[in-house]
Amino acid sequence: MSFPKAKKRFGQNFLNNKVVINEITKVINVQQDDIILEIGPGTGALTKNIIPLCKEIILIEIDFGLAMLLKRTLPEQQKINILNIDALDFNPTQFMKNRRFRLVGNLPYNISTPLIFHFLSFSPAVIDMHLMLQKEVVERIIAQPGQKSYGRLSIMAQYQCDVHKLLDVDASSFQPIPKVQSAFARLVPNSKESPKAIDEKLLKTLVNQCFSKRRKILKNSLKSYLDNGIEFDNIIDLSLRPENISIEEFVELANKISEWEIQNLTEKQG
Ligand code: SAM
Repeated sequence: MSFPKAKKRFGQNFLNNKVVINEITKVINVQQDDIILEIGPGTGALTKNIIPLCKEIILIEIDFGLAMLLKRTLPEQQKINILNIDALDFNPTQFMKNRRFRLVGNLPYNISTPLIFHFLSFSPAVIDMHLMLQKEVVERIIAQPGQKSYGRLSIMAQYQCDVHKLLDVDASSFQPIPKVQSAFARLVPNSKESPKAIDEKLLKTLVNQCFSKRRKILKNSLKSYLDNGIEFDNIIDLSLRPENISIEEFVELANKISEWEIQNLTEKQG
């Protein structure tokens, strides 16, 4: 297969292994009613497999030259909508109206985490996400408390989604060959019955606060709240480190702070 010269600034590493491309297509399991949104189709390695299987496909490609190439070369153009924009500027609510879609992409690794959270912020519209990511990022997404990779990304991704690693993909499957290994993952938003935070922004702040001092025990990270008289010790052992705290426990801690804030506000107003 011949490829256009890869642009580093767009994180271009094109899939170059037919076996891997077919395996990925298989695990996505495209259905004939599916509306697929593909981020960064590149030269269309995956796209060409998906088009005959789906109802409609929207391609978001930042590289003008590649967007034009796709317009010229892809079959079944009546099913395809090619947008030459930055995926981070894409607003699915405006574009898709109320139609739900499945997100697919071999993401540019330099912006993969912001892209995941950008699309999760539209999560009622997103049925699921199938993404090629740096292997290390997938390890962080699926990590459990006590594991080395467990941290903010594990908590915020698993708070919103069911997460699965589907395939390990060797660096040699791409052209040019990246310096890092890759893995293909599935994230399914809205599939969890677990407890929800009263204030999700606060949950995020709390998790950031605790993990910015990963080696510190909770008693130290939560000092400002403890000084305000919020009692956490009936929820959690404050001598633990954040890497040993489950998502449900972080939600409980955040909700305790929210309840304290609401009560404080009510008392001030009353
Ligand atoms: N899907 C192709 C494949 O597997 O061969 C290409 C994958 S390559 C890792 C990433 C693709 O994302 C490139 O085509 C690149 O131009 C595109 N891209 C990079 N940043 C982007 C952005 N912010 N929005 C949309 N596309 C982007």
